[in-house]
Amino acid sequence: MVQGTVNWNTEITQEWLQSYVDDWVKFYKKQTRDGEVASYIPELNKANPNHLGISIVGNNGVTIKSGDVDIPFTIQSISKVFCFIIACMERGVSYVLDRVDVEPTGEAFNSIMHLEMRKLKKPFNPFVNAGAITVSSMLNGKTSDEKLEPLFILLEKMLGYRPALNINVYESERDTSIRNRAIGYYLLELDYLESDMNITLETYFKQCSIEITVDDLATIGRVFANDGIDPNSGVEIIPRKIVRLAKALMLTCGMYDASGKFAAYVGIPAKSGVSGGIIAVAPPRVRDEELPFIDGCGIGVYGPSLDDKGNSIAGIKLLRHIATKWDLSVF
Ligand code: GLN
Repeated sequence: MVQGTVNWNTEITQEWLQSYVDDWVKFYKKQTRDGEVASYIPELNKANPNHLGISIVGNNGVTIKSGDVDIPFTIQSISKVFCFIIACMERGVSYVLDRVDVEPTGEAFNSIMHLEMRKLKKPFNPFVNAGAITVSSMLNGKTSDEKLEPLFILLEKMLGYRPALNINVYESERDTSIRNRAIGYYLLELDYLESDMNITLETYFKQCSIEITVDDLATIGRVFANDGIDPNSGVEIIPRKIVRLAKALMLTCGMYDASGKFAAYVGIPAKSGVSGGIIAVAPPRVRDEELPFIDGCGIGVYGPSLDDKGNSIAGIKLLRHIATKWDLSVF
């Protein structure tokens, strides 16, 4: 089934899509064995490496879910997209982009090599740790809770409930974050931080520890696919200009140093986290033939077994497969 071609010229039914996705998830679940769960944050290491789940929420109202969809997990680096959006909404796009660039690094997410070697005036992009920590320092508010309140409000607007912080993951990261503290000190030395370094790092660790599900990621992805407008109410939740910028960054920098391959082989904006979560956004597309989710959809994936870049090993393969079969690419 997985290798076969799909003829979408016949009527596309939800049942049909569901049975395909069920087969694909079953197939790619076996590949979770080839990766490893993140261990540098001890609490993340408790995840079950065999888990793989996906939720797809279409602009047409159709939802497909398959696999381990009920497991809550922390958003980790996916939070970098949301905090970048909040910073742009609070400070304005040009203020933020004066302080963090929009170039892919080709380096690991926690690298500071470019910053040091090239004597940059600002971090490479908001989705590597140095850039994300800089962005967290720009958020309004004196305490980490004040800084993150607008993020919780935004998430609640999109999800219809206020997600919780996973305190165990937060404390686990806070207590083991030698590299991120090193990045914090380096940014402090360069005078890039706009808030106290410890409060900034606390904000960053907390934003990474917000707990969600694949359904939540798909629901948020659907708002992104809809250019920031809530598809149910028609209300603008994120300004179009900002959500478009976020999607461009997701496409070019969203999957760490595998972003180029992901853009080439999957072709849709996405952002991953070391918990194994991925949010992906398939915007509406114009094609000659009828295709699944042609009006756009949001996709949430969870598969904590990671590849050597820190992306969900089976999750990426599953996304690539679905994007190919359904022609989801933005190109
Ligand atoms: N909290 C993690 C860290 O800073 C997030 C990294 C990630 O998801 N890539 O190490």
